[in-house]
Amino acid sequence: MNGDEREERKALQREILLGFWKVHILHHAVEGPVVGQWMLSELRHHGYEVSPGTLYPLLHRLERLGWLASEVDPGGGPKAPRRFRTTPAGKAVLAKVRRQLHELLEEID
Ligand SMILES: [Zn+2]
Repeated sequence: MNGDEREERKALQREILLGFWKVHILHHAVEGPVVGQWMLSELRHHGYEVSPGTLYPLLHRLERLGWLASEVDPGGGPKAPRRFRTTPAGKAVLAKVRRQLHELLEEID
């Protein structure tokens, strides 16, 4: 990949895909607590190239906004991963985004 392509990919991630990833995270964390490592492989499975250095700050940002809550299993030992789940506020955001995504898709599809 040359420098131009790298810049283009970074712009696409920053301007558009970050939002998609947040929607994925909120969606999956509704179904049950998720850990960062699982979320990374899930997003890669969807074809996104996400690095831990991008994902973890994003998870913590969603938590600061009150859309995710996290906990570490107290019985999990020193390496127990932080687990994130979607809060009621996050679910409300997800419902709103879902409606707007449907509408957007109908327009551009
Ligand atoms: Zn997904």
